[in-house]
Amino acid sequence: MPRSFDDARHWADLGTALFVKAAGLDEAGLGAPSALPEWNRKQLVAHVAANADALGNLVHWAATGEPTPMYSSPEERSAGIETGARLPAAELTAWLRRSADRLAAGMDALDAAQWQTPVLTAQGRTVPATELPWMRSREVCVHAIDLGTGLSFADLPDDFLTALCDDVVGKRGKAPGPALLLTAPDARWELPGEGEPVDVTGSLPDITAYLTGRVGDVGGAPAPALGPWL
Ligand code: ZN
Repeated sequence: MPRSFDDARHWADLGTALFVKAAGLDEAGLGAPSALPEWNRKQLVAHVAANADALGNLVHWAATGEPTPMYSSPEERSAGIETGARLPAAELTAWLRRSADRLAAGMDALDAAQWQTPVLTAQGRTVPATELPWMRSREVCVHAIDLGTGLSFADLPDDFLTALCDDVVGKRGKAPGPALLLTAPDARWELPGEGEPVDVTGSLPDITAYLTGRVGDVGGAPAPALGPWL
């Protein structure tokens, strides 16, 4: 069953709560490495706070019709992360909460017609504003795990994981990579690609962790190497 707008709004709220709770750490905790090779936890928190502000620009676009891009430039995007990552822990988490509250309030205020406004994402896709809650839920849910404080994909709802796998398979199907036949207990995906499709079977959380590039195996079983996602 395809994800609905209401699902995505629910997951955005749930993921935001998970992320904010997981990021509630002291100076030493936030200074520690995240589970992502290139970022520590502070950089990841700054990225998620900056993402809320950037999506807020698209909410403003939808509300007013005035084109306001997510980021004015790629440089602005990285500068926001680096500046944010230098903030003391308390200030950084205050920005995280403030940005999340502002985004939620902005979305709450949109009416049915405003939600249909076409907006441009940082990846250069034009989508109706109704896609924004899904974009936010992907960020907060996956990065809550990336913080490396003990959360795993098994802590996220099955319907969200299924929607995420749909999304990743759709994106990966357009890029070079191995052909796969992925089977979870209640779902199945055919990923087009090079060679004879390789069977990959596992639990839904393990398949999601593999497809999103967070692990190189599926529940400990070897699986073909995948390129980066997002
Ligand atoms: Zn991200």
